[in-house]
Amino acid sequence: MERLQKVMARAGIASRRKSEELIKEGRVKVNGKVVKELGIKVSSSDKVEVNEIQIEREEPVYFILYKPRGVISSVNDDKGRKVVTDYFSELKIRIYPVGRLDYDTSGLLLLTNDGEFANLLMHPRNEIEKVYVAKVKGIPLRENLKKLEKGIRLEDGKTAPAKVKMLSLDKKKQTSIIEIVIHEGRNRQVRRMFEAIGHEVMKLKRERYGFLTLNGLSAGDARELTPHEVKQLR
Ligand code: URA
Repeated sequence: MERLQKVMARAGIASRRKSEELIKEGRVKVNGKVVKELGIKVSSSDKVEVNEIQIEREEPVYFILYKPRGVISSVNDDKGRKVVTDYFSELKIRIYPVGRLDYDTSGLLLLTNDGEFANLLMHPRNEIEKVYVAKVKGIPLRENLKKLEKGIRLEDGKTAPAKVKMLSLDKKKQTSIIEIVIHEGRNRQVRRMFEAIGHEVMKLKRERYGFLTLNGLSAGDARELTPHEVKQLR
């Protein structure tokens, strides 16, 4: 048995708070009857409708994928390119990515059918640490890397403090490998941060998401999260 608003949130209807409002507004039915009080619990056999539409009640599943480059972080693509859910074609349940990695970015991506979990992880308040390794053109000056650490002005506002570490550099080829740790998840954020200090990102990989790493996975591999890992992320 689970609270009605939790079941609604997981099905991706709305956040728990918004789901509570929907309940109070009389827009939710359980087994055909409008339920207005909060706190009611439902079992998996109860029929739940929101605005007269029955919600899907699937078992929540959680996966980690080592996304290769050249794959779209979406459930379908109108140009027919490979998408991350193609790696789960045998799965009967529909899942979707938690946030996204650019087409050309590789690395750690979570996928789930648990809307509440996905919202929770993507909320900036949760400040989940994301570790990226970037290969950039040129050799950035220390003072410019410091600017990235402090926060740099982008067109959608200043970035939050980051950790930046030069891992190696190739003077001949004029390229550098740099680790950058951020908490935010803005669109193309790492690429734009490096562009802001005059260095194009040639390659980008997400190596860590919170405490989760790619250990034991090769590009294109996926595994289910353990219940303990899911609990730790919540
Ligand atoms: N930052 C980027 O620029 N791209 C990604 O895919 C992830 C973070």
